[in-house]
Amino acid sequence: MNVEEIYKNAGALLEGHFILSSGNHSNRYLQSAKVLENPKTASLLADALAKEITSAGIEVDTVCAPALGGVIAGYELARALDVRSIFAERKDNAMSLRRGFEIQKGEKIIICEDIITTGGSAMEVAKIITELGGIVVAFAALANRGFCHRQNSDVLRKDNCKLLKDTPFFALADFEFEMYEPSECPMCKAGSTAIKPGSRA
Ligand code: ZN
Repeated sequence: MNVEEIYKNAGALLEGHFILSSGNHSNRYLQSAKVLENPKTASLLADALAKEITSAGIEVDTVCAPALGGVIAGYELARALDVRSIFAERKDNAMSLRRGFEIQKGEKIIICEDIITTGGSAMEVAKIITELGGIVVAFAALANRGFCHRQNSDVLRKDNCKLLKDTPFFALADFEFEMYEPSECPMCKAGSTAIKPGSRA
């Protein structure tokens, strides 16, 4: 399965001249929600991710996703693994389980995102799961932005990756982009203007 091709065909991998959330410029941008627009594509990707997790012998009771971005990926992964699906959401700036979602002591939980950048939200969810007595057995995402190390990849962990070092991270592909400080950006130097894709209608 060519994951990059699937993202491109879905319009989820944009090429151009973009301002990333870090403020750096890049010639590529991942609009990761777009790849989940088509439920069949979402289930195809989640099936492949579930296969990697079960092949590694990871036992799972529940998938927990950080809302909003992780909810569809988490739900689809839970369907593929035939386990429960819950999500955590931000209230007054802190992640919490609401809506009657509960976890049992010793419950084995995978934290799933659509994309892991540095893993900040995933780690916030890991913290509340652990406080409630659950065990975080793995992290999962459809895509890895290249800051963290996923299983079966040559891409090494960078200093800004926040995921737990001794907990496996599963993802389908690495999307490492060339990034430039605005003052060093070759596209800016060539006279083009960077756009912020997230702010477009
Ligand atoms: Zn630029």
